[in-house]
Amino acid sequence: MAKYRNSQKINQEKDGKNFKGKKVTKHIYQKLKNKVVNLKADGLNPFLEILMVGDEPGSEYYSKSVIKKAKAIGIRAELCKLDKNSSENQVLEKLQQFNNNPEIHGILIQMPLPEQISSDNLIVNIDPKKDVDCLNPINVGKLLLGKATFIPCTPAAILELIKYYKIKTDGAKVTIVGRSNIVGKPLVNLLMGKTEYGNATVTVCHSHTKDLAKITRSADILIVAIGQPLFVNSDMVSKSSLIIDVGINKILDKKSGKTTFVGDVDFENVAPKVVAITPVPGGVGSITTASVLSNVVKAVDYIKKT
Ligand code: NAP
Repeated sequence: MAKYRNSQKINQEKDGKNFKGKKVTKHIYQKLKNKVVNLKADGLNPFLEILMVGDEPGSEYYSKSVIKKAKAIGIRAELCKLDKNSSENQVLEKLQQFNNNPEIHGILIQMPLPEQISSDNLIVNIDPKKDVDCLNPINVGKLLLGKATFIPCTPAAILELIKYYKIKTDGAKVTIVGRSNIVGKPLVNLLMGKTEYGNATVTVCHSHTKDLAKITRSADILIVAIGQPLFVNSDMVSKSSLIIDVGINKILDKKSGKTTFVGDVDFENVAPKVVAITPVPGGVGSITTASVLSNVVKAVDYIKKT
């Protein structure tokens, strides 16, 4: 049986205990820039269309930051904002236009959607070849079978971090806390798959899990995505653990009176005890946009091949 803990090697460089999302992102953008240059030389101009319904400020801020990054690496990106009172049919019609437009390679639908629109109805209608968030059931099924065209952006960001820091997953005990469709569920399949970043023994926990701390403490790699600010404390981790905190929670800082962002893990409390940890902000979240743009480039490649 593999002695995981003894064989664990992490490429921590000079980062100490902190996994630095920005370093991973820089590495991805360098590779993407070259790929975009090559695609353009072949007459292909990668184009991402972001579809947003309503005025949710967080979604708009995120969309604009994706567009800015896309432009910086040569990818064309546009935001299509529809009125918050748009009917489901109007939104589906717009989505169909994007599906049928051969210039558009990737489509991102911003969630949450206004309540009159069913996200399920939209998701099944995205052309699977342009579904850069990997939401369409065809793409989810392919991922489950280990034949993914796209990897959903947040799990992809986690895999990029694992690859960049050379974290050994083979034989590792990985515990994922959170079973959402966008983070926990795809991650289970990816990390247990027969791949360079897989072959882990994966345990999934959720709000009905008994003895959560006992399970999280036994993990070699603990991934937390629950949306509960500072929930994981030092009693829930062991000193040989690597911690990947996916949570992004807006809270009011009592000392400064300002709003601030924290993870699902109590970084101050946990960091001194563990081998390494992703900070929030500056960890997984900062890699996610790069994953979206990687998927746009993949979509162009995919369309080129088919
Ligand atoms: P979600 O859909 O709200 O699901 C939360 C999951 O956590 C559920 O499975 C829930 O269990 C579980 N959970 C909640 N409280 C728990 C507790 N006390 N103990 C154990 N499990 C608990 O969450 P999500 O969309 O995956 O997001 C999770 C966090 O990640 C949020 O902070 C979000 O902002 C962040 N996020 C970050 C990125 C990024 O790019 N970095 C992307 C997406 C999300 P049940 O299933 O039993 O309800």
